[in-house]
Amino acid sequence: MTVTSLYRLNTAEWTLDYSAATQLQQPGEPYPGWCPCYLLEHPEGLVLFDTGVSREMAADPTTYGPNGAPHMVELLETLDLEVGQSPTDHLAALGYVPDDVDYVVLSHLHTDHAGNIDSFPDAEFIVQKAELRYAFWPDGVQSLFYLEGDFSPLRSHEYDVTAITGEYDLFGDGSVVAFPTPGHTPGHQSLAVDLESSTVILAADVANSRPGYENGLVASFAWSLEASLESIQTVRDRARLTDADVIVHHDPADQERLPDPPEALR
Ligand SMILES: [Zn+2]
Repeated sequence: MTVTSLYRLNTAEWTLDYSAATQLQQPGEPYPGWCPCYLLEHPEGLVLFDTGVSREMAADPTTYGPNGAPHMVELLETLDLEVGQSPTDHLAALGYVPDDVDYVVLSHLHTDHAGNIDSFPDAEFIVQKAELRYAFWPDGVQSLFYLEGDFSPLRSHEYDVTAITGEYDLFGDGSVVAFPTPGHTPGHQSLAVDLESSTVILAADVANSRPGYENGLVASFAWSLEASLESIQTVRDRARLTDADVIVHHDPADQERLPDPPEALR
């Protein structure tokens, strides 16, 4: 079986300095990165890959989650929510309610990818175990992007969390395969998606721009430079062997190659 539709659902645009997204390139230039998530329709279930930016967090970061996230106030000055919608609103426009989502696969737990987890209390969450552990006690600059308000629900016994280590074939038919691409974070993973017409690799933040992916220049705040470069090569190898199209998550040009909803890749 294959995935029948892949929808790109943008939740926001976040403008960082280009040199933060792509190591020391074009300092001072703005980089308007998209913050999408993706919906996959498969005959055996509905899958969300990442959950985008939380509007609740953006509205008041100081009271967000068990301990607040006051440092986000300044970072949020460059967040534009108007260009996107929450995953729930995107789903509604496609005729779904959150309960319809069977699986949520998370690339990693940074706030631009893991907001809105609490919109899907009935889904099974698929996350690398290394990511779950690191998110609760990150190092240095990484602590900016891990907000307990996003992922603390995953500790609740009411949530169904599958903590994986290594590659994970969601339906057992090779059509949706999460594979580890650590470096941006310790438990970062990408997703290979088999459609009838093509194979797509949703690379997530293996690099934060297309030129970064092409040239091995990762985000300045990556957890491990060495692991990041190895993971870029992992994605390149997989793309070569499966003739896949690689989508770099925040890159505006890569995102514009995907259709706007309600259109989908099929
Ligand atoms: Zn990101």
